[in-house]
Amino acid sequence: MPRYDYRCRSCGATFELSRPMAESADPAQCPEGHTDTVKLLSAVAVGGTAAAPPQGGCCGGGCCG
Ligand SMILES: [Zn+2]
Repeated sequence: MPRYDYRCRSCGATFELSRPMAESADPAQCPEGHTDTVKLLSAVAVGGTAAAPPQGGCCGGGCCG
């Protein structure tokens, strides 16, 4: 199950939850009991579907340098 990082906007705490991907956008409750939390972008890659890096395009091919 993927883990998501959240930050509480009430107390500033950051915490991590393991929850189904389908619930990743659901409100999370901080350890202090606050519910004003936001999900942080994390580098956790699950399933290996991370976005491919941008291709070099023109400049990557050396045709414009
Ligand atoms: Zn809190």
